[in-house]
Amino acid sequence: MRGHHTRIAVAITVEGSDEIATALQMARHEVGNGAGLVEWRVDALAEEAGALQSILRLVRESPAPCIVTIRHADEGGAWRGDDTDRVSLLEAIGASDFGPRYVDFEMAHLARSANLRQKVMLAVDHASQPRDLKTSLILSTHDFDGRPADLTRRLAAMWAEPACAVAKIAWKARSVRDCLEAFELLREAPKPLIALCMGAFGMPSRVLAAKFGAFLTYARPEGDPGTAPGQPTVSQLRELYRFDALTRGTCVFGVVGWPIEHSLSPHLHNAGFGAIHFDGVYLPMPVPPEWEHFKASLHAMLDFKPLDLRGLSVTLPHKEHLVRFVRENGGRLDPLSERCGSANTLLVGADGALEAVNTDAPAAVAALAVGLGLDPDASAQLAAGIDVARVRDGDSIRRQWTARRVAVLGAGGVARAVAAGLSLAGAKVVVFNRTQSRAEALESQLHNQPMPGGGRAHVVAGRPSELGCGCFHAFVNCTSLGMEGGPDSKASPIEDDVSLDGSVVMDTVYRPMRTPLLRLAASRGARVIDGSAMFVRQAEMQFERFTDRAAPAGLFQGLLEVALGA
Ligand code: NAP
Repeated sequence: MRGHHTRIAVAITVEGSDEIATALQMARHEVGNGAGLVEWRVDALAEEAGALQSILRLVRESPAPCIVTIRHADEGGAWRGDDTDRVSLLEAIGASDFGPRYVDFEMAHLARSANLRQKVMLAVDHASQPRDLKTSLILSTHDFDGRPADLTRRLAAMWAEPACAVAKIAWKARSVRDCLEAFELLREAPKPLIALCMGAFGMPSRVLAAKFGAFLTYARPEGDPGTAPGQPTVSQLRELYRFDALTRGTCVFGVVGWPIEHSLSPHLHNAGFGAIHFDGVYLPMPVPPEWEHFKASLHAMLDFKPLDLRGLSVTLPHKEHLVRFVRENGGRLDPLSERCGSANTLLVGADGALEAVNTDAPAAVAALAVGLGLDPDASAQLAAGIDVARVRDGDSIRRQWTARRVAVLGAGGVARAVAAGLSLAGAKVVVFNRTQSRAEALESQLHNQPMPGGGRAHVVAGRPSELGCGCFHAFVNCTSLGMEGGPDSKASPIEDDVSLDGSVVMDTVYRPMRTPLLRLAASRGARVIDGSAMFVRQAEMQFERFTDRAAPAGLFQGLLEVALGA
């Protein structure tokens, strides 16, 4: 059903007649926010005495065309009564002078008896009503555990039912790959179809319903848990994901990681796309930690060409997986990803060509360059491994970095990228880590590596006692100390007795922006740079690669500060 404008249906649960006024108010609010349909979920209300009048009031006063659903308990609803009573109620609702635009009924129940089917037909078949006032049938099927094994058979049965005006299939996704099957169903649907995946893996199906021409997508009212797991709010769909702007040709981007629900990247990239009128959308794509999950999810998304996947941000714990994936699939690695073995960006050409890029390290180096009074853009280029001869004033910037000693605290993924980037810029890097052997492993991987345009990288492991030597121009925290929800949010990786006066102290942790380390450093006369500087720059660099356009100046920083309450 391509070409159809996909509407947003806000699903509102009404459990009793005392909730009707509030429910109507909620509906008015959400229709004001842009919902085009209201689904009245009256599973419990339908069991009350006087249910018919209550439901008809909801329909009559509904601020937008509506769907009435009395969902049975065995398909995720609260109705536990008899099917005949339920259908009699639907029949009376449908027969009223102001029937709803749709009633929803489950395929499995319709198929149970010819008598029941006959009665459902009566609920939607009123020859006397004008066509545009008629109630039509949404025939639905749900699986809250996973993809139903007989999904194809269920759909075929719904297509074969003459009274089915719209078919709906919803199941709990076990991976983002399930969404691709929903898109395939939408592409092949002979009649209007709603195909949605529930749960955290299903968000792409809820948003990209618009790209693939679904009949509608459901949303929950603000402050409400929703009628199914994973429903976004109307505002999230329209403001965050720019639902109304999505077209069949919209390019898809996303952030792959585990966990991913708190990622701020969708807020930045989608706002950026909107600001430059770029036909793209950026989605959270949770992928469990193991390599096999990463590999299978990426292959599936890349192989499904109608998705138009053009790029991904890749975060914990998949940055090394990305390098491996691109290597194994004949893609290109930028010099930095090649050197440090981890990348945070996947670019997919229109011809399917893959490129892995690391924007974390150039972003960190550029942020630190600002603190040290060096040219940030040229520093970022050097850190990305671009030949010094191709960088404006490259020789001079490299010399300035060569005169800087930087202490990198930590030896994990971020530390490795930052140490690689700093050493490519020319800095003398000393790595300090709780587990000394990991710092030494970094030294053996990065030290003495040839630099583009000549020279050798300087990365050595430091002993804890050397941290206080007073000979560092800058300190960069790449441990997770100080991070909200990390191993110790109150701790600082630098002891009180280390002299910081006159140096630059940068944190890569950005939640919170003011970490214990930065508070200590500021009180000791150091110049401090918070983790938002690196986060914003790495996102801006990704954005530029995704769209071939610069991110609007200041936009990402402003959004991040709002999101972090800074
Ligand atoms: P990782 O690979 O897990 O490494 C964690 C590092 O922290 C290791 O060096 C570890 O030391 C050290 N550490 C952990 N707990 C410690 C403790 N209690 N005491 C001392 N050291 C401890 O993590 P990662 O991927 O490198 O990420 C590190 C941080 O970077 C994250 O917390 C995140 O906030 C930040 N980050 C920022 C950005 C940005 O754009 N600003 C992007 C990504 C990440 P051992 O080796 O001894 O275990």
